[in-house]
Amino acid sequence: MSEHLVIPRTIHQLQLPQDDNHLWDLVNRYDAKGPRYTSYPTAVSFHEQVTPDDVETAWRNSTRDISLYLHLPFCFQLCWYCGCHMKVERKREPMARYLDALQKEAEGYRALFAGKRIRQFHLGGGTPNQFPKELLLDLIGALQTMFDFDDDAERSIEVDPRLLNQEQLEAFARLGFERLSMGIQDFNPRVQAAINRHQTYEQVKAQVDLWRQMGQGGVNMDLIYGLPLQSVDSFNQTVEQVINLEPQRIALFNFAHIPQRMRHQRLIRSADLPEPITKFKILLNAVRRFTEAGYVPIGMDHFAKPDDPLAKSMLAGDLHRNFQGYTTLPDLDMLGLGASSISMLDGFYGQNLKGIDTYQERINAKEPVLERGLVLSEEDRFRRDIIQNWMCRFVIEVGNIERDSGVSFENLFPGIREKLAVMVEDGLLETHEFGYQATALGMLLARNVAMLFDGRLASTTPGQFSRTI
Ligand code: SF4
Repeated sequence: MSEHLVIPRTIHQLQLPQDDNHLWDLVNRYDAKGPRYTSYPTAVSFHEQVTPDDVETAWRNSTRDISLYLHLPFCFQLCWYCGCHMKVERKREPMARYLDALQKEAEGYRALFAGKRIRQFHLGGGTPNQFPKELLLDLIGALQTMFDFDDDAERSIEVDPRLLNQEQLEAFARLGFERLSMGIQDFNPRVQAAINRHQTYEQVKAQVDLWRQMGQGGVNMDLIYGLPLQSVDSFNQTVEQVINLEPQRIALFNFAHIPQRMRHQRLIRSADLPEPITKFKILLNAVRRFTEAGYVPIGMDHFAKPDDPLAKSMLAGDLHRNFQGYTTLPDLDMLGLGASSISMLDGFYGQNLKGIDTYQERINAKEPVLERGLVLSEEDRFRRDIIQNWMCRFVIEVGNIERDSGVSFENLFPGIREKLAVMVEDGLLETHEFGYQATALGMLLARNVAMLFDGRLASTTPGQFSRTI
């Protein structure tokens, strides 16, 4: 944990720029393409020279407990902005076959996980609630006989509100899921038409009310800014509607427009996308409104009610970050099961192959499904710790960095002082005796700061990343 708990002061200093010239200047200089740093090194550094032995060695060497992620990649319809590995599928049989393969993959970890506890369990996708609930009940029952789930394990599930019904909600409550993560994106009908995702405020409210009537409180809502036809005014209405629904947590993601990698995003008309300055204003307004409504900004793109564990963790300075985003739990190893899933251990990251059919064929043939990965070098770990500390606690502790490495800051990162001085000048950072601390603006542009410490960025293709603004 950082010894410099300076975030609370930053949060209450949400002095965001109002002047258009200042905003234009910032957008022109900071709207770069860069990673979101859910990990460092990022997934684009993964390569195919890793082996199943690397995976087994990493798991055998680890003594940490587990965050278990299941990737359920089927949806009933394609959203044109989608950045996930998914497939449109409505039939029961292919879903049953997929879950059967997923269960077999889990079996392969049973012996390796003896003595480890599952402390976090997340079903993501795709659309987990597109799968018949009996199939999910069977799968989760099987996992609970294979692995040792902590009684207090955090259980969350991504849901599409368009498919939710009372039976599903009751089943999820019975399975111990205390948190629903709902994809909202934007309530405006024109924006919804431009992204091929239609859902009304009333539809969402009905499901949230039902969930709460069952005594369940945990609701997360995901929004996206930068979608086609969004304006500051239209998105403000969505923000107010979301505030009315009172979710415990809100994620406000920047639309990752990467049509080079996600071909279906070409269905979105580029001419309909908001200008970078409009996007930036949408973001600033949303941050201001959520904060005024009492939410605590978490990291660069999340908000939580003050009594939510994520907000408490943020204020205590012990927030963590993994491929699922921000989390309250300390260092866990993450096992990702299913096609395209990523596993993340202290010194090793690995990703399963992405093709759903090939994944199933390999599993059924008892062949490895690992496709790419990375064994972290000493330098990767060193930079990872700096980037994690920055992304979770928004400090750059120069003294600690020099002490840990035995090398001066300037020698480690040539030219860094000049670059940080510009960010201080631009209002992203403040200097302190320990180094640097983010301002509210610096929290929103956190990716730009993290990029200064990324040792692999120069050898990647910028088109692989989304824009930072
Ligand atoms: S529901 Fe989610 S995963 Fe499925 S297509 Fe829409 S955005 Fe993608």
